[in-house]
Amino acid sequence: MIRPDAPVLLEIRDLQASVEDQPILKGVNLTIRAGEVHAVMGRNGSGKSTLSKVLAGHPSYTVTGGSVHYRGDNLLELDPEERARIGLFLGFQYPVEIPGVSNLEFLRVATNARRSQQGAEELDTFAFEDLVRERLAVVQMDPAFLDRSVNEGFSGGEKKRNEILQMALLEPVVAILDETDSGLDIDALRIVAGGVNQLASPDNATLLITHYQRLLEVITPDYVHVMAAGRILRSGGKELALELERTGYDWVDEQVARLEAAAERQPLEVG
Ligand code: ADP
Ligand code: MG
Repeated sequence: MIRPDAPVLLEIRDLQASVEDQPILKGVNLTIRAGEVHAVMGRNGSGKSTLSKVLAGHPSYTVTGGSVHYRGDNLLELDPEERARIGLFLGFQYPVEIPGVSNLEFLRVATNARRSQQGAEELDTFAFEDLVRERLAVVQMDPAFLDRSVNEGFSGGEKKRNEILQMALLEPVVAILDETDSGLDIDALRIVAGGVNQLASPDNATLLITHYQRLLEVITPDYVHVMAAGRILRSGGKELALELERTGYDWVDEQVARLEAAAERQPLEVG
């Protein structure tokens, strides 16, 4: 839902980041307001996951320029745990398995950390079980998954559902979902997408990262951004995703080639 006067939740300005001294993000600009659903699309290797990891504060990624503000505060100076506590949620492309840690206990600790930041009381095991059982409905998940180790032996679809369950419990302000659709069959996709739709509200925002149009048939984005070579090349409404479906990414590649050629010429012009 687009409301021009809604508060800005995430403001990314000219963000540049490297991995192992190799520049990946080369100036990303993105403004996300409350109530909005954004989709970032792009070929493999365009920097989509890098963007989500930089926003989450992953230690392997070094920010080399630009800024990110979350509800007006400098996000980049917060450690990853603080970012999560204040309401940033990252659903990973490849959710990690944590053998030996009960899913229920993991979800309880995470939920309580978030609740204490919100000034809500901590939930003991019993109170938490009530809450989690209620939220299981969002992803139509079997309670048996609570008693297993976090994601251990879960199928791709079950891991993604578990992520949306986490999201349902944490009630994030900005949720970033990286390739939530990858590896999902159509039923799991509908359940996961249905969960995301149920959790969207006028007070929060969702950033979906995907390279398939099919997720966007079940979650309607307000904005679609096309990422290539570490930048957002073009932004538009939901029709941009349909256009990409028709045209493919060839025009994107051409535009990137022109940009890179221009960047190479630039030193000559300057000197
Ligand atoms: P996408 O999610 O759009 O497929 P990524 O952000 O995963 O793209 O990757 C963008 C580029 O950054 C790729 O060329 C990839 O090889 C490189 N990259 C990402 N993470 C690392 C890493 N940890 N080490 C080395 N290179 C990386
Ligand atoms: Mg990726």
